[in-house]
Amino acid sequence: MRFTTRLTQALDARRAADGWRQRLRVARNDTRTLEVDGKSYRHFSSNDYLGLSQHPAVLAGWRHGAPGAGASGHVTGYSHLHAGLETQLAHWLGYECALLFISGFAANQAVVHLLAQKQDSLIADKLAHASLLDAASHTPAALRRFHHNDVASLAQRLAPPCDGATLVMTEGIFSMDGDSAPLAAIAETTRRAGGWLLVDDAHGIGVTGEQGRGSCWQQGVKPELLVVTFGKAFGVSGAALLCDETTADYFLQFSRHLIYSTAMPPAQASALLAALHEVQRGDALRQRLHDNIQRFRAAAAALPWSLMASESAIQPLVVGENSAALRLSQRLAQAGCWVSAIRPPTVPPGTARLRITLTAAHQESDIDALLKALHDAAGE
Ligand SMILES: *Cc1c(COP(=O)(O)O)cnc(C)c1O
Repeated sequence: MRFTTRLTQALDARRAADGWRQRLRVARNDTRTLEVDGKSYRHFSSNDYLGLSQHPAVLAGWRHGAPGAGASGHVTGYSHLHAGLETQLAHWLGYECALLFISGFAANQAVVHLLAQKQDSLIADKLAHASLLDAASHTPAALRRFHHNDVASLAQRLAPPCDGATLVMTEGIFSMDGDSAPLAAIAETTRRAGGWLLVDDAHGIGVTGEQGRGSCWQQGVKPELLVVTFGKAFGVSGAALLCDETTADYFLQFSRHLIYSTAMPPAQASALLAALHEVQRGDALRQRLHDNIQRFRAAAAALPWSLMASESAIQPLVVGENSAALRLSQRLAQAGCWVSAIRPPTVPPGTARLRITLTAAHQESDIDALLKALHDAAGE
């Protein structure tokens, strides 16, 4: 089949399934409000959970470094700002080393690609992020998935003997469901099977645990590999892998993602140092986020759509069909609330949902306006 035929067929199928994805042109986005096509909305689709993307100290941080690193970290791209950030992250999270990556997607690809070899076994939660599952399916290792947050199912996948090494992968807080992994039980089960655990805490870091140290800290677990990302609660972009010194040395020697790619801009490392400081002293922001979550959940329980068992900033309402999710999203937009509909293949078929995200930047009046719009839509 020629490329043109293949591409056209795939696009036609996606349109027919109400699955067409469209990018917005956002004119303004300050986490609390979003401006699109000359109209302003209350914004419930941002992962900037603490509102740090707008924080004066973070903005000032950007101005204290060069906009480009000019080279890979292995040439001349690794500055004192990068080194300082890695040291502070490692110290804060209780690891020997931290290595910076340009994004969470890149970090997960790098980790899985570099570690997984032919005899190995990769075992992932069914709902683990695309960057983990994708990377895993492109390695020569066997990939098996366990039922979501189900430790018995994990134990079952770990039971068959494996000639190589075993890596178990999960998220701290799941990006599309908002629920938390039972990390202590997962870590213990993995340890007993002699495997390593990788936790991707993109949605937990900054938000949960003492000083915002994330899901692992909160649950008293220290996985061999911890990936944290900076595009969410840190309000910036980028990621880090936390690990021991041997693992870090191995990555520095052999990870092509690190060796053959330009290092993170020094300005970004500088902004991240400022963001880290704000996260560490961010109890008031975390409290405000927590209050917003409680306010939302208390009133949303009465809605006809199923509210998932989530205590996090991610509060999905499962609608079911793609077209119904899109209609509800449009209805909310008419009422001045921006909530994105999430459809398969990002979530399982038949579970299209509104992925509502709450932040510390929201006021009580924002939460109340969203609840009113949802109750009005439910009554129609
Ligand atoms: C957002 C996300 C990523 C990707 O991180 P980026 O820095 O945006 O590339 C990885 N894992 C999870 C669980 C995420 O939610």
